[in-house]
Amino acid sequence: MLTGKTALITGGGRGIGRAIALTFAQHGARVAVAARTREQVETVAGEIGDDALALVCDVSNSANVAQMFAALKPDILVNNAGIAESATLPNTTDELWHRHLAINLTGTFYCTRAALPAMLERGWGRIINIASIAAKAGAPYISAYAASKHGVLGLTRSVALEVATSGVTVNAICPGYVDTEMVSRGVQQITAKTGRSAEEALEALKRMSPQNRLVTAEEVAALALLLASEEGRGINGQGINIDGGSVLF
Ligand code: NDP
Repeated sequence: MLTGKTALITGGGRGIGRAIALTFAQHGARVAVAARTREQVETVAGEIGDDALALVCDVSNSANVAQMFAALKPDILVNNAGIAESATLPNTTDELWHRHLAINLTGTFYCTRAALPAMLERGWGRIINIASIAAKAGAPYISAYAASKHGVLGLTRSVALEVATSGVTVNAICPGYVDTEMVSRGVQQITAKTGRSAEEALEALKRMSPQNRLVTAEEVAALALLLASEEGRGINGQGINIDGGSVLF
């Protein structure tokens, strides 16, 4: 399905990015995974095989990103690298705010800007941004995260229209809570702040979905595969929820 295509997955060292990398490789893509932790990207590339590339890159660093794309011109870019921390608005420090914007939003912008020229030249490309349902709906204690992810969706929609006739599509995936380390860290944070047990905190997150469960990284990867495929070429500028129905717009 993706034979002959090269895919770069940022944040590919664990969680959703790792699942997308494995799925794309299983479907014939040559895969590169990028993140800050060398050991994690090397482990994922090792799981895939000799063909896979492990790249150390901080997507919030413009020079790092430029260097990465000087060496690699992917047909498919998955902007998945991201962070999530919670704080009340008065407790949201400058540092927390800027870090979320820099990694989640500006990192997506840097990589998209760097990837697009080669895609436009080829007349084929796929940009898939892993946003969140927090790109569409707000929630208490996640102002910085939600603002960054709303930004990702605005970026997605605008670039998608800018390149619509070029053979390149740009879409966002908007997951609800996914069973990864990001959610485990969230559970720990809730436990520390509220005194609830880890089980209670996890149950509360599951209940956010009408399906009363967490989404799996593999489910997100399956949707990314559709968007990356030839069959997905008509899907453009969308923010597709994968959340069991908690957000209906
Ligand atoms: P994880 O924390 O498990 O993985 C995040 C990945 O992003 C890691 O590989 C991490 O590696 C990388 N990363 C973080 N910061 C940077 C950076 N500055 N430059 C390069 N890579 C970076 O999270 P998930 O897999 O759960 O999340 C992946 C994406 O999905 C994120 O964008 C997240 O917002 C989104 N999402 C997750 C949901 C969930 O419930 N888990 C729900 C909705 C959306 P390293 O730290 O080594 O750089």
